[in-house]
Amino acid sequence: MAAYEYETHDYDVVVVGAGGAGLRATLGMAEQGLRTACVTKVFPTRSHTVAAQGGIAASLGNMGPDSWQWHMYDTVKGSDWLGDTDAMEYLAREAPKAVYELEHYGVPFSRTEEGKIYQRPFGGHTTEFGEGPPVQRTCAAADRTGHAILHTLYGQSLKQKAEFYIEYFAIDLVMTDGACTGVVCWKLDDGTIHVFNAKMVVLATGGYGRAYFSATSAHTCTGDGGGMVARAGLPLQDMEFVQFHPTGIFGAGCLITEGARGEGGYLTNSEGERFMERYAPNYKDLAPRDYVSRCMTMEIREGRGVGADGDHIHLNLSHLPPEALHLRLPGISESARIFAGVDVTKEPIPVLPTVHYNMGGVPTNYWGEVVNPTQDNPHAVVPGLMAVGEAGCASVHGANRLGSNSLIDLVVFGRAAAIRAGKVVDRDSAVPATNKAEVDKALSRFDGLRHATGAVPTAELRLEMQRTMQADAAVFRTSKTLAEGVDKMKAVAAKMDDIKVTDRSLVWNSDLMETLELTNLMPNALATIFGAEARQESRGAHAHEDFSTRDDEKWRVHTIARVDGNSVDLSYRPIVTDPLTTEDQGGISLKKIAPKERTF
Ligand SMILES: Cc1cc2nc3c(=O)[nH]c(=O)nc-3n(C[C@H](O)[C@H](O)[C@H](O)COP(=O)(O)OP(=O)(O)OC[C@H]3O[C@@H](n4cnc5c(N)ncnc54)[C@H](O)[C@@H]3O)c2cc1C
Repeated sequence: MAAYEYETHDYDVVVVGAGGAGLRATLGMAEQGLRTACVTKVFPTRSHTVAAQGGIAASLGNMGPDSWQWHMYDTVKGSDWLGDTDAMEYLAREAPKAVYELEHYGVPFSRTEEGKIYQRPFGGHTTEFGEGPPVQRTCAAADRTGHAILHTLYGQSLKQKAEFYIEYFAIDLVMTDGACTGVVCWKLDDGTIHVFNAKMVVLATGGYGRAYFSATSAHTCTGDGGGMVARAGLPLQDMEFVQFHPTGIFGAGCLITEGARGEGGYLTNSEGERFMERYAPNYKDLAPRDYVSRCMTMEIREGRGVGADGDHIHLNLSHLPPEALHLRLPGISESARIFAGVDVTKEPIPVLPTVHYNMGGVPTNYWGEVVNPTQDNPHAVVPGLMAVGEAGCASVHGANRLGSNSLIDLVVFGRAAAIRAGKVVDRDSAVPATNKAEVDKALSRFDGLRHATGAVPTAELRLEMQRTMQADAAVFRTSKTLAEGVDKMKAVAAKMDDIKVTDRSLVWNSDLMETLELTNLMPNALATIFGAEARQESRGAHAHEDFSTRDDEKWRVHTIARVDGNSVDLSYRPIVTDPLTTEDQGGISLKKIAPKERTF
């Protein structure tokens, strides 16, 4: 191996990722008086969070009665009873505080007539423990909520003197005696190597939507945190649960926010029928995403799809007043024009369920501390390592995430991680010394890829992986497609040994960077398809045609996947069923949340 020199940096905390979760954690850590660095492969405000349109859920009750207990109930039901109850309670309870904090930091929310934060309806958000009418709970800054949040949090982090390392690519974690003690990074614009030693490393690297062929997420969403964790011998959790958003623009994959249906848009089939009224008489077009995606797929399969090939569905907005479209949905009107050539005031938008969100990720408790279950302790914490945002799995989304519950997850758990670190990180202790052996291990992997002389170009292998995942781990799954998918993915992953990198330089080497990203996508994809094949039930986003009902007796457990090369070891871990608050809440019992059938 070529000898690599590296510069070392010592911090109390290093956050990897500058999306909503990474920035909220960075800001909070710095506010706690911890010496904090944030490392990111893209400029902070280019993180995928910038694309979040619809909004952020919190029971502010600005548009009618609401309560955190109702929000909690909807989240539990939305998760199809697979989320951890303590984490879901924490999310719903802390959400209003976290949103008011954002307001005070300067997020320019849309306003009601009285000047309060504007809230819109979103799928699965209701009142009275699911028995009352839908509620307007989703706080929005027009249809550019993520953009507004990201810019505000970046400004605030700079104000708190957090230090940013921008366009630094994290290659691998440094593990010392079972604890995380740092991270090895490659600076993309000059090729230098940097080792960050830290008392706490926080992974906020986002999702892995790009393991699939058609995804709403940015090309940077390559599950780097999950890849690093798998290589460190740590597990991933519930990876089989992949959310398909009902309304990706047909062909392009770009997202049309659920807020479009929240504002009154509806879906139609080739007969012009508002078919969601048939499947979900109460929730109609605002049933949760997994359900709407399945209904759309069923309409297409039964020959009622629109277009020449009957292979998509229409989303109608043209009945809405043009002023409302202009005020509340300007961004998606533009996307529809550019990517579908459609004027939303006159024509429907062609849409198709598209991969959108990863419910699974690095397992954590509700403080963001990474969990590595052992025989004796299913909740054992890994010292020095946290994971937040889409990279993590707290688990608040269980088998299916409700719309607008991700942005709130980012800020609630980014904030929780900072509060926790403020308690557990000793500001006066020495920063761990550089673990040279581990750093060399990471650099030798890096060097091996840089000089890879195999036969398969990265782009070709990536496409093969994406096509396999798209075909065999889709909206509907069968024992046959999943078993075939497992075999195919094993073969695809084995080809990593024959990878070909042509550019050997260290400066702006996108070939090498994409290869590193592929080494991260691969374990995420493997864990997804292996986990899906093993789970013989249907729950949330995992719709198994040969096992079409939910099986709480056997399967109300988290999947734990340990990936090594192209093999995956699966085990299971109990979910947390107890809420944090056991006494009744103003006459409301949280016990109402025991599992029942999910109907809409
Ligand atoms: C189009 C779209 C619209 C959405 N709309 C909504 C919505 O309205 N409401 C809602 O609640 N949710 C929405 N979601 C989901 C939500 O936006 C995402 O789940 C969330 O933004 C993820 O945030 P994050 O901070 O975890 O990661 P990201 O925002 O993806 O950020 C990841 C960060 O990690 C860094 N990173 C990754 N790998 C490395 C590495 N190897 N080295 C260094 N840095 C690295 C990146 O540079 C980046 O800064 C939407 C998602 C999409 C795709």
